[in-house]
Amino acid sequence: MLQQTQVTTVVDYYRRFTERFPDFQSLAQADLEEVLKVWEGLGYYARARNLHRAAQMVCSSSSGQLPATPTELRHLPGIGDYIAAAVASIAFGYPAAAVDGNVKRVLARVLLIEEAVNAPKYHPVFNEAANRVLDRNDPSSFNQAMMELGATVCTPKQPACSVCPVVALCGAHTAELVETYPKRLPRRRQPTHQVAVGVVRRGSKLLITRRKPEGLLGGLWEFPGGRINDDESPAEACVREIAEETNLHVAGLESLTHVRHAYTHFKIEMEVFTCHYRSGRVRLNGPVDYRWVTPEQLADYPFPKANNKFIPLLLSNHRP
Ligand code: SF4
Repeated sequence: MLQQTQVTTVVDYYRRFTERFPDFQSLAQADLEEVLKVWEGLGYYARARNLHRAAQMVCSSSSGQLPATPTELRHLPGIGDYIAAAVASIAFGYPAAAVDGNVKRVLARVLLIEEAVNAPKYHPVFNEAANRVLDRNDPSSFNQAMMELGATVCTPKQPACSVCPVVALCGAHTAELVETYPKRLPRRRQPTHQVAVGVVRRGSKLLITRRKPEGLLGGLWEFPGGRINDDESPAEACVREIAEETNLHVAGLESLTHVRHAYTHFKIEMEVFTCHYRSGRVRLNGPVDYRWVTPEQLADYPFPKANNKFIPLLLSNHRP
């Protein structure tokens, strides 16, 4: 949960998730849809899908236990170098350094590392440095201390050097170069995609579709729609996308709202329309499932955040 997400955001989700799924067995036996629903709002849904799959793999393994070494942990879906080292060291005392962005920043400053912290090709430089200074007698405390130092003291801007416990060891502080470390490559500009989405009404029901299980927002439900082509209006794109994805023809488009949302590598600007079913039988092309639901039933399905930004407005418009 903490990948790309701050502790303050995660706490409530963590409590809810571990209350509902207190062990691997309960998680492994749950429906993916329920897992996604409990995760809803936290984003990066691949993490939830991977955790679910990992629980199933642990439960069906001969030991029925989570493995204790980074190499074995890495065989589970969603577990890369960082999580493998963090879990193995904190849960099992295995001597492996956990190296994320916070830890890289601390290392770059303390050891005056010149390589850019945001260039994947230099990750081995930081990994090797971290394992060199790792306390092999207590890797759990060492890794947690490095994480905390990076998150609370050696922050990206205005690090609290005056209260830093490693100030005497810090190369950047000694050389008065704290502002120039870590080194970073310039960021690429994020593209913005224009998107149109339609809330299709048929009587008292609304149409929702389910995204395929893999990829961005995989397995979540949403209102049909997609990218607006250069040569069409948002309303035209909405009608076309609904026809392409569901084979349904809609009419009576009315603008509901405009939503902006930022994902990790791009942003979207979404025009949301309401419309009504005119003709056709559902034949899916892209989505893997669909439902006609009442507005009240929307709460039973996991939706991406961009959809949840306009669902309250939709519900308030629906109130008698
Ligand atoms: Fe970071 Fe300052 Fe501590 Fe160096 S002394 S590790 S720059 S907080």
